[in-house]
Amino acid sequence: MTTLNLRIVPLPTDIAEKARRAAESGALDHAVIDVDSPTGYPCRHCLSWAKPGERVILFPYASIPSGHPYSETGPIFVHAEPCERYDTTGEYPADFRNGRAFRAYDANYDMIDAEVAGGNDPEAIIEKLFQNPKTEFVDARSVTRGCFTFRIQRA
Ligand SMILES: [Zn+2]
Repeated sequence: MTTLNLRIVPLPTDIAEKARRAAESGALDHAVIDVDSPTGYPCRHCLSWAKPGERVILFPYASIPSGHPYSETGPIFVHAEPCERYDTTGEYPADFRNGRAFRAYDANYDMIDAEVAGGNDPEAIIEKLFQNPKTEFVDARSVTRGCFTFRIQRA
């Protein structure tokens, strides 16, 4: 993310590990899935596509916590095996340059703006959303399925 004073926020490691433990213990809302497509299963922890032959866990995640009008819980994937949390937090994740929508929220978790990345320049859209001083964070989501992918905050 060239010169932006922004920070990519991947899924916290403790949430990924909790999901792995829940899947192991057979929780009904945690499904273990065999990856069968190179671009169908984005891991929210390492922020890369899970590869065919790997396994992922599908589980519900509250990207916007309950108790707000825009509260939202939806399905996300993480690698079933431990993976390294995305740590290049000053750079936009290369695997997700396309196919993302960006939703801006204020400090009260109210959605105040949204844009779809049409071309190949998500940084420009994110930068524009953060030009609004009320923007507290921006969530990247799948354009097609709507699922939460990662968060972007001011650095
Ligand atoms: Zn991963």
